Amino acid sequence: MISQTMLGLGKKSSVIREIFEYGNRRRAEIGAENVYDFSLGNPSIPAPKQVTEAMLSLLENTDPVSLHGYTSGPGALSVRSTIADSIVKRFGCAATAADIYMTCGAAASLTVSLNALVNTGDEVVVLAPFFPEYRVFAENAGATLVVSPPRDDMGPDLAVLDKLITPKTKAIIVNSPNNPTGAVIEEADMVALCDLLRLKQTEYGTDIYLIADEPYRELVYGDTEVPYIPNYYDNTLVCYSYSKSLSLPGERIGYIFVSQKVKDHTDVFAAVCGAGRALGFVCAPSMMQLVIEKCIDAKADIAAYEKNRNLLYDALVEYGYEVIEPKGAFYLFLKSPEADAGAFCEKAKKYELLLVPGDSFGGPGYVRVSYCVAESTIRNSLPSFEKLIKEYK
Ligand code: PLP
Repeated sequence: MISQTMLGLGKKSSVIREIFEYGNRRRAEIGAENVYDFSLGNPSIPAPKQVTEAMLSLLENTDPVSLHGYTSGPGALSVRSTIADSIVKRFGCAATAADIYMTCGAAASLTVSLNALVNTGDEVVVLAPFFPEYRVFAENAGATLVVSPPRDDMGPDLAVLDKLITPKTKAIIVNSPNNPTGAVIEEADMVALCDLLRLKQTEYGTDIYLIADEPYRELVYGDTEVPYIPNYYDNTLVCYSYSKSLSLPGERIGYIFVSQKVKDHTDVFAAVCGAGRALGFVCAPSMMQLVIEKCIDAKADIAAYEKNRNLLYDALVEYGYEVIEPKGAFYLFLKSPEADAGAFCEKAKKYELLLVPGDSFGGPGYVRVSYCVAESTIRNSLPSFEKLIKEYK
């Protein structure tokens, strides 16, 4: 008999994918311009020009055998050094190539980190609402997922978290800016969270690792600051990805940074290399590694996301929706005007609005709106949002 767990995972498509497929059918029936699809988190702005130039230059000027050849398991040394130097420069945090493991994006960073840390039966805590794949990654690593519900403003509820951390807690995953809310954990909350983790480590005599899932770090608006967690908590592994920051989700490139302050750093880094090996994630795509080396300071122009955010947030608030103000990423989380967010999303379909119920993110009663779409989609969708809320008045 084949693995029933994997069979189950393979057969069950995500709610987001189901909505996207529904959108494809509607697009074929009534025309793409009449469907307001806010389901997927696929970057809608192009990669920076430097990325294209770097790719062309690498293809034209590099010996193809070395360009497309294997790098060492954790990645090319020059690339890892460049990333480490950038961490030192940007965050004032000690880092060298020996702390960096190149991966195929944040998904690989997370699954490698979890497999490196977790023994069967350990617990991994996530702060709701959370990216649903955390459950798949944590359970596949042998952990039990423990979900910590949020405060009303979607910030971390430390009184609740306090009760959920046990001697079995091996790690906590923190995602800020957050998918699905767009919220950013403020410094005061980060300090309090890290204080609590330290207290629990001392109380139980255990190590609790903080896995910082940071694909949206560069996508923040206004004067929002995102605290760099290794500066606040020693046992931190940063799972970074260029999928969203450089609009390269299909190219599968990112890294794990094991903070030098992690206890038994050498062993933890070796376990990361071991997990990468066991999972078949050695040697991230070689050309993309070199692209990152050449584009270390490149930034996507996120003005379009910010414009979309302002347009949508202001209009929804004006119409009477209750919305968590998004500070980063390209998601907006709104309170469903009826308790059942799934039923609300079904009603939204009448107006060709494709929204995702928050239930699968551990945020029941809320709805995720991905605003990484064309500005015209937002503008054209606004009358539909207005008609939809009027049904509840
Ligand atoms: N973590 C979060 C919070 C995400 O939203 C995503 C993708 O949407 C990932 C991780 C995976 O990103 P990647 O494309 O880098 O694997």
